[in-house]
Amino acid sequence: MNFNLNKVTRENLKKLKPYSSARDEYVADGSPMVFLDANENPFENGVNRYPDPRQRRLKSALAQQKDISIENMLLGNGSDEVLDLIFRAFCEPQRDNIVTLPPTYGMYKVLAGINAIENREVLLTENFQPDVESILKTVDSNSKLLFLCSPNNPTGNSFSEEKIIRLLQGFQGLVVIDEAYIDFSTGTSWAKKLQEHPNLIVTQTLSKAYGLAGIRLGICIASEDIISILHKIKPPYNINELTQKRALKRLEGAARIRLEISEILNQKKLLLKGLKHVKFIEKIYPSDANFVLVKVDDADKRYQQLLDMGIVTRNRSNQPLCENTLRFTIGTPDENIKLVMALKEIN
Ligand SMILES: *Cc1c(COP(=O)(O)O)cnc(C)c1O
Repeated sequence: MNFNLNKVTRENLKKLKPYSSARDEYVADGSPMVFLDANENPFENGVNRYPDPRQRRLKSALAQQKDISIENMLLGNGSDEVLDLIFRAFCEPQRDNIVTLPPTYGMYKVLAGINAIENREVLLTENFQPDVESILKTVDSNSKLLFLCSPNNPTGNSFSEEKIIRLLQGFQGLVVIDEAYIDFSTGTSWAKKLQEHPNLIVTQTLSKAYGLAGIRLGICIASEDIISILHKIKPPYNINELTQKRALKRLEGAARIRLEISEILNQKKLLLKGLKHVKFIEKIYPSDANFVLVKVDDADKRYQQLLDMGIVTRNRSNQPLCENTLRFTIGTPDENIKLVMALKEIN
């Protein structure tokens, strides 16, 4: 594998000297100090100070829980910010391209548009797996990023390990594996494989299984070299103090998080059983995530009927290979019963 990080990094960043904030220059060690360095209001209210730009406490809690080293980690204001940083670090506007595999998460394409990067789409196969040959034929020397969402949104399935390895080895650019739903899956995270694959970037989020969508916290896991490039361009205080505190508090209750995940997975089993008895559901796709994709007779009609009964689902019919599909998030036991009852009632 002849991956060359220098070759995929934008020229302007190689020379860039990042902004150095007051809280970067002086690192508090806990001893009592007088802070007159950042033009803050000195009167304490809990958030009058700038947050730690390197999120040391939060990162060490995450590092411990996920068994990854702090040097391999960068935090973002949601994984959406992480994805945007990746674009801005490696893709030269108007020149470079990325490869995405529809049907998949819509944000990659939007970010490509925002950053003026060509998006080359290679459809997943019929059973929603990457088409390795077509992908490797589609890339060229300006292909910087390949996005693999596994488990994939909206289809719910994980990608074959063997195919992912062939892509990691055959592609000269960076392979971004979006693991937003990894905590619901029985598969192991690719974050364990950074050593073998220098061109691997894994993204995760606290928005789904960790129950913290409202605080906006995403994680980028990659080699130290990749992380230091991203670190150069991240906004200094991108993770605010309230987010850091709230995330730390939630991580202290790791047992509670695990319990919620297993309850969601139990509920998924029950929901799948219920869905089998709905006449107009033609297919239920296998899911490693906290949602299920189903094929129905007429998605627009069923979507509207559910909406009229106060149930909001996602109509994914406009995505390729997803004609007449609806995506249901696993809710509370009550909500899932409501969904199944509603589906049985309409005709
Ligand atoms: C929900 C989702 C995200 C978004 O994560 P945030 O951390 O909330 O920005 C990223 N990727 C996929 C595939 C998702 O479904």
